Amino acid sequence: MAEREELTWELFGAASRELAQAIANSGYEPDLILSIARGGLFVAGALGYALDVKNLHVMNVEFYTGVDERLDLPVMLPPVPNAVDLTGAHVLVADDVADTGATLKLVRDFCVDHVAEVRCAVIYEKPQSEIKCEYVWRRTDKWINFPWSSVPPVVRREGQVLDA
Ligand code: 5GP
Repeated sequence: MAEREELTWELFGAASRELAQAIANSGYEPDLILSIARGGLFVAGALGYALDVKNLHVMNVEFYTGVDERLDLPVMLPPVPNAVDLTGAHVLVADDVADTGATLKLVRDFCVDHVAEVRCAVIYEKPQSEIKCEYVWRRTDKWINFPWSSVPPVVRREGQVLDA
């Protein structure tokens, strides 16, 4: 199997902090963070705390069906954020990775007509990405295992309860 890039929860903590520091150092002060679900939710939450931004929005975009397997185009799923909420704002779009960049391009193009400024922040950017993000923690050309999606969903086990 091809070698993978492994992001642990611990490394994600440091990565999101460093990404926030780079954003702060650049002088960009976003009014709101727009996360791309689901992977971008973790990034947006961590950046929201680190940058002290409480205004967080979510966009659902579906593109990948498996490791390096995609639909023809990324698809925006409802509910789509209300354009009124974004009007005139300085927006920070947060996602886990820009791979082809098609997902971020869709979201950035959606924003661009309404907002004052839009910038993108990702943990990883791959060389083929058609979007060049303003804030990138690491660059890789490998498939990345993220801590939130590298283990399967839990299954129900009868009679098992957590300790009080
Ligand atoms: P893009 O539109 O840039 O090709 O891909 C964006 C989305 O695809 C990411 O937010 C992520 O959900 C998924 N994706 C792309 N590359 C990878 C990868 O290397 N590892 C994982 N786990 N997901 C990926």
